[in-house]
Amino acid sequence: MKGVITEIERFSLRDGPGIRTTVFIKGCNMACKWCHNPETLQIRPQLMVYPEKCLGCGACVRACKSGARSIKDGRLLYDRALCTGCGACAGGCFTGALVLSGREMTVEQVMGEILQDRAYYENSGGGVTLSGGELTTQPEFAKALLEAIKAQGISTALETNMHAPWHIYESLLPLVDLVMFDIKIFDAAAHKKWTGVGNDRILKNAKRLAESGKDFLVRTPVIPGVNDAEEEIGNIAEFVGGLGGAQYYELLLFNPLGESKYQALEADNRFKGARPSPQDTAERLRRTAERRSGLPVRVG
Ligand code: SF4
Ligand code: SF4
Repeated sequence: MKGVITEIERFSLRDGPGIRTTVFIKGCNMACKWCHNPETLQIRPQLMVYPEKCLGCGACVRACKSGARSIKDGRLLYDRALCTGCGACAGGCFTGALVLSGREMTVEQVMGEILQDRAYYENSGGGVTLSGGELTTQPEFAKALLEAIKAQGISTALETNMHAPWHIYESLLPLVDLVMFDIKIFDAAAHKKWTGVGNDRILKNAKRLAESGKDFLVRTPVIPGVNDAEEEIGNIAEFVGGLGGAQYYELLLFNPLGESKYQALEADNRFKGARPSPQDTAERLRRTAERRSGLPVRVG
């Protein structure tokens, strides 16, 4: 069984309890306009181009069999429409000007990386987190990987947007110890406008998950000009508190680090130049969320 992986991050301290390995599964079923990992939105591998690192050696042009990289009038050109994402050019580009995001890996290959840190999971109460993109865009691969991890007695967690059909979660939950999911916007029309999908299924899935008795926590990315108002955060917090059983609720401040990735993908960045909400706004939202949810609220 093979899947497309964006990255495997070892020694992560922010994707669940303890020391973790996070497997970022490529592809997403939403399109949040503020996404700071735009290279994870499509399942297929994509070439990221950093021209400022290019030395003009021409190795990529010789490696490319699709004609996507060429030289004209002494200038290096790239035609993304012709690019198949094979990665041959990136493999020969030693300056880092070309980076292929996404690689096919078997469950066994991913397990090879995961098992290197087994002692750290055991000593820290950590484990493995499947994240994305959105891990449910490759459900068979996610399930096979979770089965392999569980067969080794390692704790598992999911980071999900909760927008997959419920039957996918039903098939994965017996293999999972903790689910971390987002509720990004409570207002249905605004949710559709900013993420490309409505939030009806997400809210229904959240209720089903809570009823299942599985350990879970909820997070909201706080996006300037989108949902950083007390009423909006308060409404989400009240819903989260009403689910019953959440470990805590977390507000995640806007992450501006995706800008260079948008440039590398030649993709439109609606949030270019945006910065995280100031400290006093974050604290105000945290207090509102605590009051409306009745839960401990963290700001990350
Ligand atoms: S291989 Fe890399 S450094 Fe050489 S021309 Fe291509 S992009 Fe530039
Ligand atoms: S990824 Fe493959 S098709 Fe795309 S530019 Fe590089 S060598 Fe050519």
